[in-house]
Amino acid sequence: MNAGYPKAAVLGWPVKHSLSPRLHGYWLHRYGIGGSYESLAVEPAELEKTLRHLPQAGFRGVNLTIPHKEKALAFMQAVDTPAQRIGAVNMVVVGEDGRLEGRNTDAYGFSQSLQEAGVSVRGGAAAVIGAGGAARAAIVALQDMGVSEIRLVNRTRERAEELKAALGGSLPVFDWAAREDALKDAGLLVNATSLGMQGQPPLDLALDNLPQTAPVTDIVYRPLETDLLRRAKQHGHPTVDGLGMLLHQARPAFAAFFGRDPDVTGDLRRHLLEAP
Ligand code: NAP
Repeated sequence: MNAGYPKAAVLGWPVKHSLSPRLHGYWLHRYGIGGSYESLAVEPAELEKTLRHLPQAGFRGVNLTIPHKEKALAFMQAVDTPAQRIGAVNMVVVGEDGRLEGRNTDAYGFSQSLQEAGVSVRGGAAAVIGAGGAARAAIVALQDMGVSEIRLVNRTRERAEELKAALGGSLPVFDWAAREDALKDAGLLVNATSLGMQGQPPLDLALDNLPQTAPVTDIVYRPLETDLLRRAKQHGHPTVDGLGMLLHQARPAFAAFFGRDPDVTGDLRRHLLEAP
């Protein structure tokens, strides 16, 4: 069973890029907890078997990354509300009885990151660019934070329409060609695409329509200052980078696996940014 030496891991395919072992390893060391957090390369065909084997292998739980987050839902004995709404599981807790509970802390991480940066988004409209898994988590967070209208813009319009149908609420969809229209009178702009990430082209989006007081946040954290955030700063917008979301989504996982709610500090940020 999972008593004794606490053991957790991140499962992905590939998994080498994941910062989770560095992040949880930092906290284990900082709090003097004798436990381990490893990374396990699990190919999609092996996911079900690997998950079913977790209790026997002594794991308290695991995090999931690309491409397992959506597929894992089917193998859970219980799924929390955020994971149901987002349609994906980013952490699995192994119960005392060996049951697997799927949870999702990405929306929590996103809202904590905004809160930490002092961004208030109650009421008003937000524009979200992207309709993948990260966008879904951001939208759920914004809905829970009381944003009254969330404008969806995605290159593939059907994906945005699917999101709108799945999540409900006031989610007007804009065409990619008219993406700058979504910024008019908006109180927040979120890039939830992979554009701007190392090796990807920048997000091609003029900011002229966005009110200057509106914060701009990017879900991408490599590089920390994306082209979008750099331009937003030049225009005078408050900005929030993507690292805060990554750090805060990990806190509930660490607490569930190792029994302590860890701190997000400047030193931890630096430690992660130094990752090769
Ligand atoms: P995903 O499900 O694959 O979605 C990718 C999104 O990017 C889609 O909306 C896609 O549009 C759009 N996109 C990709 N290439 C594009 C292009 N050339 N032009 C226009 N749109 C393009 O990926 P995801 O899981 O949502 O992740 C998105 C990003 O968020 C990644 O960079 C990931 O590292 C980051 N992320 C960060 C955190 C964090 O904690 N900060 C958490 C999760 C993810 P289409 O639908 O048209 O393909």
